Amino acid sequence: MSLEIVVATKNRKKLAEIKDILKEFKPNITSLADYPHPVRIVENGKSFRENAIKKALTVARLTGKFTLGEDSGLCVYALRGMPGIYSSRFSGKNKSDRQNNLKLLKLLDGLPLRKRKAYYVCAVALADKNDLVGVTEGRCSGVIGFQEKGTSGFGYDPLFVIPRYKKTFAQLGEKIKHKMSHRYRALKKAKKIIQKYIERQRSS
Ligand code: IMP
Repeated sequence: MSLEIVVATKNRKKLAEIKDILKEFKPNITSLADYPHPVRIVENGKSFRENAIKKALTVARLTGKFTLGEDSGLCVYALRGMPGIYSSRFSGKNKSDRQNNLKLLKLLDGLPLRKRKAYYVCAVALADKNDLVGVTEGRCSGVIGFQEKGTSGFGYDPLFVIPRYKKTFAQLGEKIKHKMSHRYRALKKAKKIIQKYIERQRSS
């Protein structure tokens, strides 16, 4: 049995990453783009976890399908965890990734590398039409570079340096990013929950 998983996102780059990370699992992944319902989910949770749960439950109830809600962002120690849950709209509503990156560079201006530590967080919530099935979280540590480097990935990837490689995620490319990212770590745990869910469905 191939379980259909609706990913509650309209972000095409995020969806592509989720599909790539889950590819060995061979699920039938669809997204909000495959459904006619006009969905507007207000991300007013106080944490990544709350927002991921809200996305998963809203879309699972709307479509009646098993749903994966994902919420993620960047937390910078020197900025007391900002941009955090405001990562996508850090420099304002409808602003570009580049504008967010430039704002981040400006706020960290003058700080040496040792004071530019940051981490990405990804919360994944799984739900079916009846209830929440599980929630997982993954993190990935790095430092914020002094200038944008690389073209792969999205969001803050051109600034997010992995100390071990001395390169940004945008320079490292998806092959490496998808084996160590916050999204990979959260989805690795989510896979186990999905597997158990499938087994329960089979035996009921
Ligand atoms: P969301 O769609 O509300 O979860 O916002 C996620 C935002 O966090 C994105 O728009 C990016 O700014 C940032 N973000 C999350 N994950 C990543 C990543 O893997 N690379 C770069 N930026 C990310």
